[in-house]
Formats: sequence, C-alpha cells, structure tokens
Amino acid sequence: MRKKIGGRGQGCAGHAGRELGGPDSEMFWDFGAGLKLHENSQWANEPCHVNCDCGRFLEIGNNVFMEYVKRAGKIEKMATHNVDFGGGLERMAAATINDPDAFKIDLFWPIIEKIEQLSKKKYGKDRKTTTAMRVIADHARSVTFLIGDGVVPSNKDRGYFCRRLIRRAVVKAQELGIGDNFLAGIAGKISDIYGGVCPLPVQTINRSWKRKKQNSG
Ligand SMILES: [Zn+2]
Repeated sequence: MRKKIGGRGQGCAGHAGRELGGPDSEMFWDFGAGLKLHENSQWANEPCHVNCDCGRFLEIGNNVFMEYVKRAGKIEKMATHNVDFGGGLERMAAATINDPDAFKIDLFWPIIEKIEQLSKKKYGKDRKTTTAMRVIADHARSVTFLIGDGVVPSNKDRGYFCRRLIRRAVVKAQELGIGDNFLAGIAGKISDIYGGVCPLPVQTINRSWKRKKQNSG
C-alpha cells in the first residue's frame, strides 16, 4: 500500500486547480513459479518480486481510496470518500486464462490466427515473428475502431495517427511476407469479435484501407 496524490482527479471537468487522491492499493496476478518466467528472463540473477519485469506478476487493477484533495499546494481531508478503481480488461482476461500473454485472450487470438493464416507463419516461433503479429493485431484493431468512428487516414490530427498505425502494420506485414490488402481481411475478423457489442462498418473500413494502400506512404 502506498500513498498517491494527484493523477486521476487532475484536469477533470469542474475540478480545475485541484487534485484528488489517497492511499493506493495495486492488485497483481501471480502466474506462478511453474512457468519459470523469472529463471528464463534477464533478471534471473536477482530476486523476483511483484514489480519484477520478468512477467510472472501482472498488475491487473488498482484501487485509489480517495480521501484527500490538494488545492493550491495544500492537502486537505475530503468530507466524503470514495474508491476509484482502475483495471485493464485484457490483463484481467489474461489472468483468467492464466496465461501471461495477453494476445492469447479471446479479443486478440482470432486476429492472430488470421495473421498466421495470411503469413503461413506460426505465432511464438521466434521473437521477430511474434512481435510483428502483435503489432499488426493491435494496430489493425485500433485502426478498425478509428475508421469505424469516422476517422479518415490523412496528414493531420486523428487522421495522422490512423495513417501512422496503418503504415506500421503494413511494414510488419511485409516482414512476414503478407501481400496486399491484408488489413481489409483482418477488419472482417475484428468485426466478428466486436460486432455483437459494437457494430463496425466493415465496408467503409475496407474501402478506407484500400485507398490508404493505394496512396501508401
Ligand atoms: Zn521476476
């Protein structure tokens, strides 16, 4: 348990000039010693602990017990307290399947399988292949939602981020030997996964990606 002041309350609408905070309790999932994640890491010669970067411990959430307010550099106790929880859905899902690789969860794995199919390469075979597949899966998902939200790849603002994400995904796909218009195929897979809770205009997304591919760069 450690005390944290600031951060979350800062900059909230109507809270200008003040910061909320309090004691903070972080929750970690322990994947266990059996996977030998620590022994096989570069930290093998040091003791393992919850903040070790070997991957054995995964922070899945965080409670901040809000009880202080900081105004003009002065910290005061608040009249009413609350608990502010923050957690990562994908990290919690990884803990649920007890696998430290968050790309194995239902929200990612079908996308990885699609990339395996397109590249005829195996996820986990080597570091370069695995990293490339993770980047493609992550960026393709972000781009699908951006375009689904009406963002058009361009040279400014949100469009610029969209364009950069597509570009990096294309570079990683080329490393895997995947050919043209692969993102359009992956969009369909992403729509299959998320369509039930968040319908995505796949036709628009496909058109947008094809256009970007033609004007690639
Ligand atoms: Zn460790």
